[in-house]
Amino acid sequence: MKLFSELNVDKRIIKALEEMGFIDMTEVQARVIPSVLDGKDVIAQSITGSGKTAAFGVPISEKVEHGKGIQAVIIGPTRELINQVGVEMQKFSRHKYLSIALVFGGVSIEPQMHKIRSAEIVVGTPGRMLDHMQRGTLRLDKIKILVLDEADRMLDMGFIDDIKKILSHTPANRQTMLFSATMPDEIVEIAKRFMKNPVKITGEKEISHHLLKHYYYDIIQEEKLSLLEYIIKKENPNLALVFCATRGLTDFVATELERAGLEAKPLHGGMEQGKRMNILEGFHRGKPHILVATDVAARGLDIKNVSHVFNYDIPKTVEEYTHRIGRTARFGKTGKAISLLSKQDHEFFRKIVRYIDVEKSAMPQDFKPRQIFFRRERSFGNRFGGRRSFSGGSRFGSKPGGRRVVNRRR
Ligand code: ADP
Ligand code: MG
Repeated sequence: MKLFSELNVDKRIIKALEEMGFIDMTEVQARVIPSVLDGKDVIAQSITGSGKTAAFGVPISEKVEHGKGIQAVIIGPTRELINQVGVEMQKFSRHKYLSIALVFGGVSIEPQMHKIRSAEIVVGTPGRMLDHMQRGTLRLDKIKILVLDEADRMLDMGFIDDIKKILSHTPANRQTMLFSATMPDEIVEIAKRFMKNPVKITGEKEISHHLLKHYYYDIIQEEKLSLLEYIIKKENPNLALVFCATRGLTDFVATELERAGLEAKPLHGGMEQGKRMNILEGFHRGKPHILVATDVAARGLDIKNVSHVFNYDIPKTVEEYTHRIGRTARFGKTGKAISLLSKQDHEFFRKIVRYIDVEKSAMPQDFKPRQIFFRRERSFGNRFGGRRSFSGGSRFGSKPGGRRVVNRRR
């Protein structure tokens, strides 16, 4: 079975899928959807951009009935991802007139309360969901299905306690599903404790080398920013995402790129939610065409035409590398992943090259680093200051043995 129309699901859902241009199922969809329709718990791992949202969204749309209260919950790590998944769920289920409540922080809570009252599906981040649950405005005691999208992230130390709390308010006989491009064994072990004989479904594990090429440059810390500017100007990317380790560095790099005449904006968890939304929406339309972000943008975001992902500093695990670079080369498109390494990055990069084939790029002959100065009057939080030549990263970036990936402040 390869076509959505061959599935035993409501014709209204098939119609909605056709309107979205979804005719053939991807591998993970073809393997997951029948199991979910069968009522099984599922742990599904398949590459970024392989259509995991529809793999849970289609069977949920099938199983949930209009007018019968909240029956399904989808939980994910960031507000932006929740928004995206919510929009997609809305599309799958529109001809069944299912109502989807989006529940995430940083925006006012009252409209969400109102929406929850008539919703059949809730899509949310754990923090705001718990907030509603404590206020008594969200009850999950009748749900049939629970999904953890980006499941390994949801079960790491940053979120696990919240997830456990939420789970304790759901019926034991619910159907539970986990989705991610990465699924470390220890996470699967944790998951099994609250799942019922889960079927483990693995689709494609790595983006084909024809589609995604990985490169790295060796560069001294002081010249990283200049090199980034140089490569961006040379490659002239359609849309580019630049990942940085901290909020301060993200602001700094975005500002410096703008100063160098490039159109760049920052995105991180320290920004006001309205601004986050605006910048991300702009980026979808190519304005700005460079987004400098923390790992808040690493997971799940589906942005068309991201041709380049830059690692301004190196993520600490191969999983986070996988998610960052998975913002490009999605759904059969091509892309480049370019990592800028200085000495401090080597420790983490060593782990990554064990799993991923990364090609070293020679330093371009005509590259001339420019000096970058900090001026006191510009403020980037209050960690920066004084007048000094700066390339970012050394004081704010990835320190060996520093924070683990579990930190939620991104
Ligand atoms: P994942 O969650 O696996 O990273 P997404 O669910 O975000 O992937 O899907 C990636 C992109 O592919 C989205 O733009 C989605 O609309 C599109 N897509 C998914 N499944 C199909 C399909 N069967 N046919 C056409 N496009 C699809
Ligand atoms: Mg996804």
